[in-house]
Amino acid sequence: MTTFDNSPRTVAEIAKNVILNATERSIPLTPENYHVWFEYFLDSNQELKTSINKLIASGKGFSQEINERLYNEYLKGGKTEILQEVHKETHKIFQNIFRATLSTNDLASDYSDKMEEYSKKLHDANDLTQMLNFIEDIIKDTNNMAESSKQLNQKHEEATSQIKTLSKQLEETEKEVLLDALTKLNNRKAFDRKINDLCERFDKNEGFFSVVMLDIDYFKKFNDQYGHQVGDEVLRIVGSHLKKNLKGQDIPSRYGGEEFIILLPDTKLDKAYIVAEQIRENISKKRLKIKKTEQTLGNITVSVGVSEIREGDTAISVVERADSALYLAKNSGRNNVKSEKEFESAETGT
Ligand code: GH3
Ligand code: MG
Ligand code: MG
Repeated sequence: MTTFDNSPRTVAEIAKNVILNATERSIPLTPENYHVWFEYFLDSNQELKTSINKLIASGKGFSQEINERLYNEYLKGGKTEILQEVHKETHKIFQNIFRATLSTNDLASDYSDKMEEYSKKLHDANDLTQMLNFIEDIIKDTNNMAESSKQLNQKHEEATSQIKTLSKQLEETEKEVLLDALTKLNNRKAFDRKINDLCERFDKNEGFFSVVMLDIDYFKKFNDQYGHQVGDEVLRIVGSHLKKNLKGQDIPSRYGGEEFIILLPDTKLDKAYIVAEQIRENISKKRLKIKKTEQTLGNITVSVGVSEIREGDTAISVVERADSALYLAKNSGRNNVKSEKEFESAETGT
């Protein structure tokens, strides 16, 4: 239930009550209905007020017929023509003001001009002091409206710029959340998202992909020999090597520890195997050196497993097959590449 301002002080407050009331009681805001309810909230016509209060108490509602009767009985002909004009005008103005609060303050200043003109006209009429006060009220309220709508615009602009800054920060945070801090490659979380996207694409027959899983050989020994920090540097080197040497659409990620994984969209197993072999060879040829101290570290090697998505696969199962192939590569002496096919043949002894 709408609560009305019981002691409206200005025309604007009265008009707001009229409009709220009309909405509440589903009364069409014709100039006549507006006039009836304006008088009601203005508290200027006791007979009208009593009659309406009785109707409210009866709970019958306010049909157009009832509104017309109220107008004809209590208001029609009882006022000067100019008073009726004023009511018509205020009705129009307030409809516009309500629109203006939702649009721009330019509109509101138009009303102000219009009303000033009207006020001048009324000034010449001696017995219309009360009306003149109303009009002045309207001008005041309209100006307030323009002012508050200006403030509203300003607040809106501030909020918009705050939202922009926030969403930028959010984007950056999201990127950080998906990046591995050490290698700046995709992290495991990002990898999970990417492979799930690719699986969905595969399920919709929109493309296939291969998986290359790579693990640094004897990395524990390397760490033990040179220290963890140098180990970290090697992980960075492998990361940037993958970034530099893969095609645009291929997606390298740090899977965990000293393990990396590459997703190769629209790439068959044999092609992925060739890519894996190139990576393995290039890494094994790298002569590692600590830039600052010029200390040479020899070289590292990697073992690699390759698989390709198939019918009925999940993200987990296709990765598991790459992992099994990698396990075979390790068991076959390390520093080599094995595919899921080789793993399966080894399993079945074929
Ligand atoms: P394998 O050839 O069988 O893979 O032997 P490995 O020593 O590489 O494998 P293992 O799983 O025994 O050890 C992995 C090592 O990788 C242990 C850990 O010291 C090292 N490692 C894992 N994550 C990091 C890291 O973030 N930084 C450094 N420096 N080392 C890491
Ligand atoms: Mg490992
Ligand atoms: Mg290892």
